[in-house]
Amino acid sequence: MLMSGEEYRESLRGYSPTVFLDGAQINSVADEPRLAPGVAAVGVTYDFAKLERHQPVMVAEEQSSSAKVNRFLHINRSSRDLLNKLEAVRLVCQRVGCAQRYLSQDALNAIHQATYRIEAEAGGDLHQRFGAYLHRVQAEDLTLGVAMTDAKGDRSKRPHEQTNTNAYVHIRERRADGFVISGTKAIVTGAPYMHELLVMPGRNMVEADSEFAVCCAVPIDAKGLTIITRPAGRPGDDAAVFSGRYGQSTGVCVFEDVFVPWQNVFMAGEWQHAQFLTRAYACHHRHSCIGARAGFGDLLIGASLMMAEANGLDAAGGTHLRERMVELIKIVEGFFACGVASSTYGVPDASGCAEPERIFANVGKLLLSTQIYDMQRIAHDLSGGLIVALPGPDEDHNPQTAARLEELWQGKDDIPPERRRAVARFLGDITASDTAGWFSLISLHGGGSPAATSLEIYRSYPLEDKVALVESLLDRGLLDSEQSETETGDQPGRCCADGCQAPEEDKATP
Ligand SMILES: Cc1cc2nc3c(=O)[nH]c(=O)nc-3n(C[C@H](O)[C@H](O)[C@H](O)COP(=O)(O)OP(=O)(O)OC[C@H]3O[C@@H](n4cnc5c(N)ncnc54)[C@H](O)[C@@H]3O)c2cc1C
Repeated sequence: MLMSGEEYRESLRGYSPTVFLDGAQINSVADEPRLAPGVAAVGVTYDFAKLERHQPVMVAEEQSSSAKVNRFLHINRSSRDLLNKLEAVRLVCQRVGCAQRYLSQDALNAIHQATYRIEAEAGGDLHQRFGAYLHRVQAEDLTLGVAMTDAKGDRSKRPHEQTNTNAYVHIRERRADGFVISGTKAIVTGAPYMHELLVMPGRNMVEADSEFAVCCAVPIDAKGLTIITRPAGRPGDDAAVFSGRYGQSTGVCVFEDVFVPWQNVFMAGEWQHAQFLTRAYACHHRHSCIGARAGFGDLLIGASLMMAEANGLDAAGGTHLRERMVELIKIVEGFFACGVASSTYGVPDASGCAEPERIFANVGKLLLSTQIYDMQRIAHDLSGGLIVALPGPDEDHNPQTAARLEELWQGKDDIPPERRRAVARFLGDITASDTAGWFSLISLHGGGSPAATSLEIYRSYPLEDKVALVESLLDRGLLDSEQSETETGDQPGRCCADGCQAPEEDKATP
């Protein structure tokens, strides 16, 4: 059953998580104003799945059950699915800044792949067990948080070498009916308003780390789980025209002897597979990050153009404003194109899941990680300084100042002053507030640091093929003769005589 946003908010009342916010325990996540922008943002992922016009991207058919499920709980089976997911993420992020729920899908796909691999290599029923779990969360239309990033302690040490064992979540005890875990996960998007957490390993492991190779599902109100969180966005701040309504909270998740029944355990010590699971998740998630930041880019593009026009300038008029706009568009559509390519060249996995093509997914993520700062710089350049200097909303109706401020707000004659003021506040909110800093950090580090992304590109890229290419040219003396030009098609941009071929439709379909 697909829930609406309101039903999702109501469903949170069925849980009693232990949540601390700004130094005090909160009673009801569904009613907490400081978390409301986060609940509202996730709610849009539900509402959009109910709207007929969005259903082609927001709803999918689960192949293993034929059930109609929310896109953010779906196992991708084809390039088309990957493209739809990318577009679904962009669509929701245009509306709310960060959709958050796509993490659920990224983790479900990676666990689908990893449990299949473990079962194929070692036997057991992990993949079947995961299949039952998947069908339940799809049927209940849940939102799952991803608890992957451990506290990590001393980064130069492996999990088993840490002085404080709780720096990584680990198995404390194995029982006949399940296992018991402890440890701290450092950053979990939306933690307080998730239904369940997917606990996952966040790095490669060696045999001595086996008790840290843990993957399982934990209800948000499991006994022994404490969430220490922050407000989502900037609730209650009238100047926060966007992030007062939609935002994202993150939580530190402390597990203290949390019992997990075997039916919710998907990895319990299989250290050899920890890296596979981490890398698969990173690939799915970086692909999603591309869609997310493209949606944010759409907001910057629209607002920057509106601000320039409200200032009386015509961006199309051949001034530097047009160049800046094109630079912004180039950045956003440049990394989004990597997401499209990653979807188009998606790779079928043995489990039947389609994985985004890794190099394009990682290159796109690396581009947006660093270019987010350029995106904000360009928006600032186009907008002018007013977006950080403007008086607060309390002055809008102050009889002593409002009339004089009208003179400040008035730009181009035919654009109402309050329109220019609203765009300025919007840009200040998303590019120059703590929400703006948050967008930078989630772009830079969310889904793994730039160094981790670079490493993935380096180890996945077929460097040896490029060396072999040049070696073959040298060995055949082709570089010394004119023959080389004709043999490779004689056309700029062509890498072979045939030129690039459009991939077959749904290349990733197994
Ligand atoms: C807003 C936001 C939301 C997030 N949401 C989630 C979420 O929902 N779930 C989740 O699991 N995670 C989440 N993350 C965490 C994200 O994946 C991490 O921030 C990221 O992996 C980097 O880890 P870190 O923050 O611990 O930084 P660190 O690992 O401390 O990295 C800091 C720097 O040190 C370098 N470094 C780290 N270790 C080493 C080493 N051994 N050798 C050399 N250099 C090293 C890094 O490359 C980087 O340059 C989120 C992050 C943000 C900012």
